[in-house]
Amino acid sequence: MQVQTPADAVDRIKGLLDNFLGRLADDDLREQVRSLVPAFEELRGLGKGLIPSELASSARERILAYFQRYALQVIEGDELHVVAGISEWARRVRELRVEFGWTICSGVTFKDMADDEPELAGGLADILGADPRSLKPDQYVLVNLQQDREAAHRWNVLNTIRKKKGLGTKARLLEYMRANVGKPVSIEELRYLAGDKSEWARRMRELRTEEGWPIFTRMQGRSELPVGTYVLDEDKQAPEHDRRIPDDVRVEVLIRDNFACRVCGWTREQLRQDDPRKFIELHHLTAHAEKGANSVENLILLCNVHHDQTHAGRLKLEL
Ligand SMILES: [Zn+2]
Ligand SMILES: [Zn+2]
Repeated sequence: MQVQTPADAVDRIKGLLDNFLGRLADDDLREQVRSLVPAFEELRGLGKGLIPSELASSARERILAYFQRYALQVIEGDELHVVAGISEWARRVRELRVEFGWTICSGVTFKDMADDEPELAGGLADILGADPRSLKPDQYVLVNLQQDREAAHRWNVLNTIRKKKGLGTKARLLEYMRANVGKPVSIEELRYLAGDKSEWARRMRELRTEEGWPIFTRMQGRSELPVGTYVLDEDKQAPEHDRRIPDDVRVEVLIRDNFACRVCGWTREQLRQDDPRKFIELHHLTAHAEKGANSVENLILLCNVHHDQTHAGRLKLEL
C-alpha cells in the first residue's frame, strides 16, 4: 500500500482548486459547489492527520489532546473543527465536559464573569492572557488538567436542581454550591443552572458579598483553585453583622493576616479531621450594628472556633 503523505494531499487539493477555478467561467452553480466538496474532504484529512492516531484515535480524543496541550489558553472553535475533522465537533466538546468530566469553559461564560464581577476581570485577564470581556461563545479554555471522575453524578445533581419548580436562579445556584461544599464548581455548571443566562455571575456575587456565603475564586487569594471555578468553603452563612464586606477589603484582610486566625494562628493547611477548626472567617472588631465600618482596620481573621467563642462572649480579643 502506498503511504499518503501530507504533500500528496496538498497536491490533490491544488489540483481540485484549479479545477474549481476552471468551472467558475462556464459551469452552473451546482457544479461549482460540487467541485469544492472533495477539496473539503482532503482538508479534513489533513487536519485529522496532525495528531497521530497512536495518540488519539477519534475526533473526541483529538479534541482532548489539543486542549491538554494548550490548557489554560483560549482556543477557537475553528481550531477544534480542524483537529477533529468533523462538523459535529461542538457536540464532542460537550461530551468531554458532561460525560468525561473535563472542565472546559466557553468564552462567553468568562465574559459573564468579567462583566458582573469587575473586581475579578483583571486577574482573569492575567491568567487567560486575553481580555475576558472580549471572549465569545465559540472560544474555549480547558481550565483543569485533572479529570473529574464524579462528573456523571454531578450532572445528575445539576439537572435535578435545574428542573425544580418555583426556585429562582439564586436559590438554585446556592443549592448546588451547598451540594458541593469544598469542591470547585465550574462556571459552565453555574451558567447551565441559570438556564444559560448571564445572570448567574451577578447572583454569585450577591451570595458572596451580600448574603455572607464563604464563596471564593482563584482571584481572591486561592491559588490552588482552577480559574473558572467557584468554591463554597463552608455550609454556613456569615452572621448578619459580618456580611456585606467588599471583595477588595476581604482580600486585603486575608493577605494582611496571612490567611491565619489572629488568636491561634491556624490556617486551612492545618485542616484535620479531629480538629474543630475548619474555616477562616472575617470578624468585625466593632460590630456593624455599633456603626463599625467595613474597613480593613476594623476586620480581622479568626478560625471558626475563636469566632464562635468571641460572639458567645467567652473570648476577649487582645490584639
Ligand atoms: Zn483560632
Ligand atoms: Zn464576627
